[in-house]
Amino acid sequence: MGTSIVKAFGTESPTVDLKQMNIQRRDVTATDIEIEILYCGVCHSDLHTARNDWGGTVYPAVPGHEIVGKITKVGSAVTKLKVGDFAAVGCLVDSCQECESCKQDLEQYCINGFVGTYNGKDKHSGMQTFGGYSEKVVVDEHFVLKVPSNLDLAATAPLLCAGITTWSPLRHWKVGKGSKVAVVGLGGLGHMAIKLAKGLGAEVTLFSRTQSKEKDALELGADAVIISTDQRHMDSVKGKFDLIIDTVPYVHDVNPYVATLNISGTLVLVGYLGGLEPILNTVPMILGRKSVAGSLIGGIAETQEMLDFCGEHNIVSEIEVIKIQDINTAYERMLKSDVRYRFVIDMASLKNA
Ligand SMILES: [Zn+2]
Ligand SMILES: [Zn+2]
Repeated sequence: MGTSIVKAFGTESPTVDLKQMNIQRRDVTATDIEIEILYCGVCHSDLHTARNDWGGTVYPAVPGHEIVGKITKVGSAVTKLKVGDFAAVGCLVDSCQECESCKQDLEQYCINGFVGTYNGKDKHSGMQTFGGYSEKVVVDEHFVLKVPSNLDLAATAPLLCAGITTWSPLRHWKVGKGSKVAVVGLGGLGHMAIKLAKGLGAEVTLFSRTQSKEKDALELGADAVIISTDQRHMDSVKGKFDLIIDTVPYVHDVNPYVATLNISGTLVLVGYLGGLEPILNTVPMILGRKSVAGSLIGGIAETQEMLDFCGEHNIVSEIEVIKIQDINTAYERMLKSDVRYRFVIDMASLKNA
């Protein structure tokens, strides 16, 4: 199949900086949409993939899966959107669309494996998939989202990963008016969890290790902040929460949080992949029918639902806009948690590179 050359920013190995490079995009098929990328959010997964922290990165690698742009071309069979529309792409660009998961709009759990927006394998061309740190992307219309017209485009980008990752568990565990929700960790994911849970009408508490994040959390809409290192403070919320969204991306002790779950409450991990240490104590789980669960991003229909909800409630991410040339510095700052709360690349900077 035909391809065209597109300007991008990526890396040739785990140990070198990202730099400008050329990549190939497949030509638009009948069901494809070509998007000129205007903004791309910077997710921790981008950094982990660029540096091969999880293994399996194929180089050159071009990260970026929080994509917002304008449609420049559509295939002959495309009905969902048209040239000139604003559109978004998240973490998935393809799946089998036939398995039980796909049939239930759970493409992120496709039995045959979904195709990631980057570091995946393009089913049409057999080439590596490249992410949003580039001029353009070509995606099957099923995986392209509509962007509410009232939202700031740059601040919408992080909804495509950080937003949906926290929205999906809020919906799955039926959070609504009066639900008591807690969030562990105030970063890209945590700040979206607070805003979305609040938007759904929940009473929202942030767990934080220090007092330093209290002011920010309350400004973002949290009703309370509990200092997790203060045992008396933790005891004051024992048995309180219906759902805890744990966004912490490294190994940590979840047992103190389980103690704060209500009967039948659930703690859902969305940020950390791996074994738990110290080990999970089942006693409070059995005695209170409590669950510890996990959740991965969200399906396409659910992502659209989240974007529409954000449009209605005027919810976007808190961002710091950067140029693509600043991406390596941005990665270093992310490692120090020095970002409130998401970097978003203004992709016009790539044109002038
Ligand atoms: Zn992500
Ligand atoms: Zn499938």
